[in-house]
Amino acid sequence: MDSWDYQVFWNEAMSQFSEELSEQEYSMWFNIEYDSSTQDTILVRVPSAFYRDQLAKTYQKAIEARLFELSGKKIGTEFVVVKPNPTGTQGKPAASRPDDRKPGKPAEEAPRPREKHPQLNIAYNFENYIIGENNSFATNAAMAIAANPGTAYNPFLIYGDVGLGKTHLMQAIGNRAWILNPKLKIICVSAEAFTNDFIHSIHEKAMSSFKNRYRSVDILLIDDIHFFENKEGSQEELFHTFNALYDGNKQMVFTCDRPASELKNLSDRLRSRFERGLNVDLQPPNYETRYAILKKKVETNNLSIPPEVFDVIARNISTNVRDLEAALVKLSAYANLVGMNITLEVAQQQLKDVFSQTRHGNVTIDHIIRSVSETYKVTANDLKGKKRTRSIVVPRQIAMYIAREITEYSTTELGLEFGGRDHTTVMHSCQKIDEQLKLDPTLDSKIQKLIQSIRQMSIKG
Ligand code: ADP
Ligand code: MG
Repeated sequence: MDSWDYQVFWNEAMSQFSEELSEQEYSMWFNIEYDSSTQDTILVRVPSAFYRDQLAKTYQKAIEARLFELSGKKIGTEFVVVKPNPTGTQGKPAASRPDDRKPGKPAEEAPRPREKHPQLNIAYNFENYIIGENNSFATNAAMAIAANPGTAYNPFLIYGDVGLGKTHLMQAIGNRAWILNPKLKIICVSAEAFTNDFIHSIHEKAMSSFKNRYRSVDILLIDDIHFFENKEGSQEELFHTFNALYDGNKQMVFTCDRPASELKNLSDRLRSRFERGLNVDLQPPNYETRYAILKKKVETNNLSIPPEVFDVIARNISTNVRDLEAALVKLSAYANLVGMNITLEVAQQQLKDVFSQTRHGNVTIDHIIRSVSETYKVTANDLKGKKRTRSIVVPRQIAMYIAREITEYSTTELGLEFGGRDHTTVMHSCQKIDEQLKLDPTLDSKIQKLIQSIRQMSIKG
C-alpha cells in the first residue's frame, strides 16, 4: 500500500454524499471512481470530458472539503477521463483495482506538464467560450488583458446577471495569463473568500501576511464583489490593496451582478475605484449565440444530440448560459443512464418542466405590477385601468415593456393581463419605451433596477 492511500476517505466521502444527495443527483453525478492517490491528490476516473468539466464546476469543492473534514488533510482531486468499461463497474465507489489502473500510475512517476494553479479552474478558458454580440466587447477586452496584464483596462469590471459567463471570463483571463507567463503571481478568489481570509487573519493576528499576500500579486481576480456591500472592514482592506496594486500597474479584474454605480452599501471611494478602469456588461445571448454555445458543447463533449434538439433548447431557454448547460446536462445524463439516443421527442419530454420554468420564470405579471406601482406611487388598478394621465401612462408602459422583456407571455396574453387590452396596445407601449430609452439615458438603469427587484420578489414568492 502506498504511504498515501486515501481511498478510505474517498469511500467514506462518497457514502456520505450518497446519503445526503437525492438518489437521482447521486447516480447522475457520482458516476465516478477512485483510481489512486498521490501525496496530496486523489485521482478520480470519470466517464467523459463533459462530466469532468461539470464536476469540476459543481462538486469538486464540496468533495475536497469533505475529504478535508474526514482526513484533516488538504487532499485535492483530479479527474481523469476513462470511458466506462462495458461491465459497468462505475457507479458507487468500487474497490480499487490496482492491476487495471489505466491512468493511475502512481502520480509521482507521472510527470505533470505543469502545476495546476490552486485557484484557477482550467475548465474556464477562452477556447470554449463562445463569442456572440452579447459578450464580444467583454471577451476581446479580456483577451487583451490576459496577453498584457496591467497595461490597459485596469481594473476590468465585468458585470451582468447570473449565469451569463462572468466567472468563466474572469477565470479565462487568469488561465491564459498563467499559460503565457507561469511566473506571474495570480490570486483568484470570490469576494466571500477574500472576506473570510481577512477576518481569519485578524483573528490570527496575521494581518501583515494577509497584506503581503494580496499586495504582492501580478493579477488579482475577485469574483462577485457585490458581496462586499455592508462589509466595511473588507472594503477598507480592499481599498488599500487596490491602491497598492493600481500604483504598481498590477492587473485587477472584478465581477459583479450589477453596475458598480448600483452598489449602494459600498464606500464611495471604493466604488469610484471600481469604476476607474473598464466596466463592461454581459448580456443574455441571442438565439444564434445560444445555438452556437449548445453546438460547441455538444461537439467538444461528443454528445450524440442532433441539431434539431439544440435548436429546440435554444428557442425555449433564453435566460442564460447556465440554464442552457443544465438542459444539456440533463439530457446527457438521461442518455447515459437509460442508454437511449436523444431524439427531439425525448428532449421535449425530458425538458418539459425546464422549458416552462424558464419561460415564465417565477416572475408573474403580479410581481411586475406590484413592483412598478410601488416605485411610481400608483395603484395596481391604475396600471390595469383606462386612465390616460401621463403619471399613469408611463408606468403602465414600463410595466408592459418589462413584462415583454422578462417573461415569455405573448403580446396577446399581456394585453389580457393588463386590463383586457388589445395586443397592439402592448406593442405600442413597448415601442414607446424603446424610443424613450434612446432619449433618456437614465431610463435604462431605472428599468434594470425594477427588473432586479421583480426578480428578487419572484424568488421570495
Ligand atoms: P456567472 O459567473 O455570470 O454567473 P458563469 O461564468 O458561472 O456565470 O457561467 C455559467 C455557465 O455557463 C458556466 O458553466 C460557463 O462555463 C458557461 N458559459 C457562460 N458563457 C459562456 C459562453 N459564452 N460560452 C460557453 N460557455 C459559457
Ligand atoms: Mg459567477
